[in-house]
Amino acid sequence: MSAMGRVYDSYWYVLGEEVKQFEAAYAAFNQVRHAVGVANGLDALVLALRALEIGPGDEVIVPSNTYIATWLAVTQVGATPVPVEPDPATSNLDPVRIAAAITPRTRAIMPVHLYGQACRMTEIMAVATQHRLHVVEDNAQAQGAAFDGQLTGSFGAVSGTSFYPGKNLGALGDAGALTTNDAALAHKVRVLRNYGSQQKYYNEVVGYNSRLDELQAAVLGVKLAHLPEWTRQRQQVAAWYGQHLADLADLRLPAVAAGATHVYHLYVVHHPGRDALQQHLTAQGIGTLIHYPVPPHRQQAYADLRLPAGAFPIAEELAATALSLPMWPGMTEPHVAAVAAAIRSY
Ligand SMILES: *Cc1c(COP(=O)(O)O)cnc(C)c1O
Repeated sequence: MSAMGRVYDSYWYVLGEEVKQFEAAYAAFNQVRHAVGVANGLDALVLALRALEIGPGDEVIVPSNTYIATWLAVTQVGATPVPVEPDPATSNLDPVRIAAAITPRTRAIMPVHLYGQACRMTEIMAVATQHRLHVVEDNAQAQGAAFDGQLTGSFGAVSGTSFYPGKNLGALGDAGALTTNDAALAHKVRVLRNYGSQQKYYNEVVGYNSRLDELQAAVLGVKLAHLPEWTRQRQQVAAWYGQHLADLADLRLPAVAAGATHVYHLYVVHHPGRDALQQHLTAQGIGTLIHYPVPPHRQQAYADLRLPAGAFPIAEELAATALSLPMWPGMTEPHVAAVAAAIRSY
């Protein structure tokens, strides 16, 4: 509250000192040289692709099972999303399948650290280097996750993250950021987010209005200090779920790849009778969600891509069986045990 009062009294509400301070703090947290605050996570991904000059005629490799925002960023810049299937064990982009999707038009790979687990970035970076492709990480769900000790959001040329209220680091409204070690890309993104202008009323490029509010930056700065502890609590909740649900034959628990860490934005299990299990839990007063019921290639919005049912069977199977159990920092072991008991009574 005192941070909000400070902003209110400053009479400066968009792109000011609070944003600068939060950008510096978030860059330090993410172990990158530059963070650039923007209006939301989708804009962060769009601006990342724009900064890399990816557009019409270009192809970008995306996961077949991601939240639709990853695909929307690609189509918003006029490029074509080329889906690649995930490893069904982790739900993350399968590095082994990427090479087969590369064409002369491919410009970038967009790994999504889905549900909070880091993708197998060492292999993904190797494919990208071999084929001279950019990597743009969608780090909206995984702030603080790592692969082989390196933080997500620090592998790609430039990466995007979201501070939507429900994310692990959430603002009190929409907010997002890009992260990069490349000073030139950081500069390009700073110009793009503010109408393509460095000097007021002089516009160098066709830009956007995607600025971060001072109020959101002030709140995010306060919350960022708590993120490591909240992550630790999420990981503890996941460990309890693992103990209480380990021996159920039809229930597949989240698997973590060797070398990866998981910050459990979501705790997603898979069950062949997912819909009936969800109804059973609802009847017992336990709220669950489905992330995500329809893969992007089966969304009406992308009907014109003409990707038929069955085109990406792993994504379709995961969408049909995924169930997100209750997960939040501070959730207690008795609460986890109660959820587990309700699942066992199914
Ligand atoms: C939330 C999310 C986004 C978009 O973030 P917004 O801030 O809602 O625009 C992008 N990708 C993934 C994987 C997300 O979960």
